[in-house]
Amino acid sequence: MVERIRLIVRGVVQGVGFRPFVYGLAVRLNLAGFVSNAPEGVVIEIEGASRNLQAFEKILRQSPPQLARIHSMEREMLPPLHEKGFIIRQSRQSGKYDVLISPDVATCSDCLREMNDPADRRYKYPFVNCTNCGPRYTIICDLPYDRTRTTMAVFELCPQCRREYNDPANRRFHAEPVCCPACGPRLTLLKANGEACDTKNPVAECIDILHTGGIVAIKGLGGYHLACDASNDEAVTRLRRRKQRGAKPFAIMVRQYEQLENIVELSRISGDMLREWQGPARPIVLFPKRYPHNLSEQVAPASDSFGVMLPYTPLHHLLMEGDFQALVMTSGNLSDEPICYQDDNVVERLGALADFILSHDREIYIRTDDSVLRPVAGKLRFLRRSRGYVPHPVSLPCDTSSGEILAVGPELNNTICVTRKGEAFLSHHIGNLENTRAYEAFLQAVAHLQDVFRVSPEYVACDLHPGYLSTRFAQSLELPRIEVQHHHAHIASVLAECHRDEQVIGVAFDGLGWGTDGTLWGGEFLVADLINFERVACLEPIQQPGGDMAAHYPPRMAYAYIRKAFGAQADILASELLPSLSESERAMIDCILEQNVNSPLTSSMGRLFDAVSAVLGICVENCFHAQAPAELESIAWQAEQEDGLYPCVSRQETSLYYLPGPGILRALVDDFCSGTTAPICAARFHNTVAQATVDICIRIRENKRLDTVALSGGVFANAFLTGRLVNRLKQEGFEVLLNEQVPAGDGGIALGQAAVAARRNLCV
Ligand code: ZN
Ligand code: ZN
Ligand code: FE
Repeated sequence: MVERIRLIVRGVVQGVGFRPFVYGLAVRLNLAGFVSNAPEGVVIEIEGASRNLQAFEKILRQSPPQLARIHSMEREMLPPLHEKGFIIRQSRQSGKYDVLISPDVATCSDCLREMNDPADRRYKYPFVNCTNCGPRYTIICDLPYDRTRTTMAVFELCPQCRREYNDPANRRFHAEPVCCPACGPRLTLLKANGEACDTKNPVAECIDILHTGGIVAIKGLGGYHLACDASNDEAVTRLRRRKQRGAKPFAIMVRQYEQLENIVELSRISGDMLREWQGPARPIVLFPKRYPHNLSEQVAPASDSFGVMLPYTPLHHLLMEGDFQALVMTSGNLSDEPICYQDDNVVERLGALADFILSHDREIYIRTDDSVLRPVAGKLRFLRRSRGYVPHPVSLPCDTSSGEILAVGPELNNTICVTRKGEAFLSHHIGNLENTRAYEAFLQAVAHLQDVFRVSPEYVACDLHPGYLSTRFAQSLELPRIEVQHHHAHIASVLAECHRDEQVIGVAFDGLGWGTDGTLWGGEFLVADLINFERVACLEPIQQPGGDMAAHYPPRMAYAYIRKAFGAQADILASELLPSLSESERAMIDCILEQNVNSPLTSSMGRLFDAVSAVLGICVENCFHAQAPAELESIAWQAEQEDGLYPCVSRQETSLYYLPGPGILRALVDDFCSGTTAPICAARFHNTVAQATVDICIRIRENKRLDTVALSGGVFANAFLTGRLVNRLKQEGFEVLLNEQVPAGDGGIALGQAAVAARRNLCV
């Protein structure tokens, strides 16, 4: 019996080879009809024997093209038209846009095979791509996804490429960025002053430069990298100096898995983690270093891990043929600026950092940094979610029918987010907004996301902090504003991801966020749901001498803690433990603390970690975000087996329980001064914080009858702490929720803001 059905397929179904797949399947099953891209997704009308139709639907659902993500499939019976043959119809362009944009995808194995085949016309062509791989998010200017709305529009297809593009049986059928050496983008090698080098083979030349210790700015998918040979100590040191980077680790690229084994320890790494690392997103993953390794110590000084990625563009693959053990591939920028991605300012921005520039004429429309993940509590979790993952949406636990939302995120590690029909689209990593270029990127992202997802938000969600540039931007919009407390947003980000619309115990540990009482929060225990929260416990507040200065110089924070913990003895102890803090600096701190000048109260867990790091002599300056806590964690891993802890009794003050920071610090100082090594002390400190946190959760459970704990905030990027805390909580019978799709740090705040705003709107 002949039947006809219409299917509307929603999800990531454009730019992923969906139509050719449908075409091939229909032809194979002897079905007639058409497939077409439409604003709401892909529309298929198909007819034939009902048995074949069933097979068609089953295969589409169960094994769609590799990169497609089907979110829903609407099905309708139609009267048969007795058509012959199956066609791919021209896209319609009106109506509302519901399709999703694919993230950028690492070069696929078919394209690699062609690139390595001397007989292929794309042999060694650095821009080979197909429907299964290549640039997407970074080159899309508008929707529907179509070559004319990408930065490939300027390259006119040659007859051969056009044939491939138009042939439904070809694997490049409607691959929008398709190109070849005859018609596509080209590489150019430039000197640092922008002058073109006279070379026929820029790749070979670039490999030579790298081999002889040169630094090259290399244009990638979402921006420029600065590259040098990771085993060349002199080159890496020079790059570090030029970038004004302090001790912040550089990411590296290795050619394949075999090289990874030589430099990192894989015993704590699961098969799932490796699969993600090798997958189409090709993120940077932080792996524990292995000793000895042959790379320069300057790649990641003072860190116990290497951030490693695999090649993800054809150009990377060609460069890695240069037989490097690894290349440093760090983002092309000066210290805190956002990554450079535009050719018209690359000389100005990177000319002083690189010796040469390897560029090309395919424009990057949206800059996107590499994503960074690290193994925490048994899974890879995001430190930065950007290239390869953005703009896949996170679905919210509630709909947004009461009005779409723009969430503008925090100040540091900013990302933003727009909602559309119950889904949240987070932007690429934008950075620290007080940097002018980052703020410009923020404004661009706000406009672009609304544009490509065709949403006009009716509400704006922002942080409570009155000084954040994102908050001020939100205030400048003529939209109803929903302010979400920072730590509530952290917890809401976990609830949103886990689709939980209920009350939980939320533990939010981070550097700082503006509290509802006007003090700086950061070690918070909330009883929270998506609508509201109650603060029930926190780290014992302490004055932060000199505000941000103390966050930058951990010994200052350490001194404040020592004063509070030891009173009269503080001066002697500080002179021993904090040699970098002079007597006059101590006197100055005494003075501002006593007079309460610029010394806000803080319950920040990040500051306690800073203080401990300084006391143990590990880190005296935070040159990059959370450097002192990260180095403290590194040291703790040296005593991985240590399970001792310090006595610690949380006490109740008014309506709040206090996790006693000064008390923990006091015990730690006593331990350290009696000769215990820094690694043991660091491990015991972590263990103590974990246990004290569990104790408070148990008390909250007794009072509030809640046994689910959500953990979020930048401190939970600490794998030593998080692993132990999760285990202890589970032993006590708690269910534990953690971030998986967005970072626990401030990169996830926009999601939390959007979720709270959406949920609150439903109550109005
Ligand atoms: Zn491909
Ligand atoms: Zn061509
Ligand atoms: Fe935070």
